[in-house]
Amino acid sequence: NLSERLERSFKILKGEGKITEINVAETLKDVRKALLDADVNYKVAKNFTDTVKEKALGQNVLTAVKPSQLMVKIVHDELAKLMGGETAEINLKGQPAVILMSGLQGSGKTTFTGKLARMLKTKKGKNPLVVACDVYRPAAIEQLRVLAEQVGVPMYCELDSKDPVSIAQNAIKEAKAKGYDLVIVDTAGRLAIDEQMMNEISAIKEAINPQEILFVVDSMTGQDAVNTAKEFNERLNFDGVVLTKLDGDTRGGAALSIRTVVDKPIKFVGTGEKLDALDQFHPERMADRILGMGDIVSLVERAQEQYDEEEAKRLHKKIAKNQFDFNDFLTQIAQIKKMGNLKELASMIPGVGKAIKDIDIDDNAFKSIEAIIYSMTPQERSNPALLNGSRRTRIAKGSGTNIQDVNRLLKQFEETRKMMKMITGGNKTIPKLKR
Ligand code: GDP
Ligand code: MG
Repeated sequence: NLSERLERSFKILKGEGKITEINVAETLKDVRKALLDADVNYKVAKNFTDTVKEKALGQNVLTAVKPSQLMVKIVHDELAKLMGGETAEINLKGQPAVILMSGLQGSGKTTFTGKLARMLKTKKGKNPLVVACDVYRPAAIEQLRVLAEQVGVPMYCELDSKDPVSIAQNAIKEAKAKGYDLVIVDTAGRLAIDEQMMNEISAIKEAINPQEILFVVDSMTGQDAVNTAKEFNERLNFDGVVLTKLDGDTRGGAALSIRTVVDKPIKFVGTGEKLDALDQFHPERMADRILGMGDIVSLVERAQEQYDEEEAKRLHKKIAKNQFDFNDFLTQIAQIKKMGNLKELASMIPGVGKAIKDIDIDDNAFKSIEAIIYSMTPQERSNPALLNGSRRTRIAKGSGTNIQDVNRLLKQFEETRKMMKMITGGNKTIPKLKR
């Protein structure tokens, strides 16, 4: 599925501790392919990766996070944006508020009608009336009757009528007379788009002027879902999309394309046949789920909040000139401490993360490192080359550690310095892409 595919394409990015120069172009190619295979519309996928590329190239690598993690964050944010950014609410104003269902047969309209009635009744204290306008199949009316009973809401139907427009109008009159504040109109669908169905649903729309027209679509139908959405939208100019059957092994790409193609928000997702299997659609959470990397995203956010951009620039210059010293090391430790959860965050800090990776990280872990550094003279801190054997012995004594601790820190510091020089190489941004 999509989330596994994307995770795989990020595998270099998740690479254990090693900060390597990531090949952004290669990664984005994989991301694009994963999106296409998940039925994301070609244009949507291309625009998406172009945007990510642009954002990635403008980013300063030497923030508190690895370039790879930054990439994940950028992809995540763009995914969320692609799906609408914010959670879209439905319009429940009106006495009564009227919601009209549209969509193909089997998409899940009747089920969703029941689910929505239940959700708005239990969570918003609404008093809904559901309306059966599927006049072609007696079984459809029976289905809605059973659902309404389970939910504990009344249902309106006219068994001898073949006119869905007047049924809908009569239902609204009934709702007004009996004081229902919400009317949910279930309609008939066809297996494929046809003129008669479109005329019928348009006529119902004209007659009852609903607050909210929802287009219900089966997410398992992939690219077809996008095409159907487009046609319904051209006729009805609907207000929102309901993606059903997002449980099971769906590819989910439809969720990504529909928003961009029809420019209407996804408002709900159906995740099962049971009446409580309905969620409001949250773009952020969907992006998390697609990427399967919510943790990284929030870590990066936290780190970005805390990390001082100016300090990063200053440090970058020093590293490029191979002047990173123990004073900088102390500053970096202070940065890590500011961020809170050390175990998670320490590995994300350039330089220090590697130096302390063998140490059991807690707040105390820094105490001996700091003690050793504080036992150095200012000259020794800014010029570690001065640290000969007798100075090391003095520092061990002064810091209450032993010579092995001091030697280990110096060795790690040297390695870190080399590695930092190598990876930054005087370059500020992620290397230019090769195509
Ligand atoms: P309609 O023709 O548009 O009214 O579609 P129905 O509401 O009758 O649903 C068609 C089938 O899809 C039924 O068997 C439903 O139980 C099933 N269904 C609807 N929504 C979901 C969902 O979110 N998940 C799953 N797994 N099945 C669903
Ligand atoms: Mg139905």
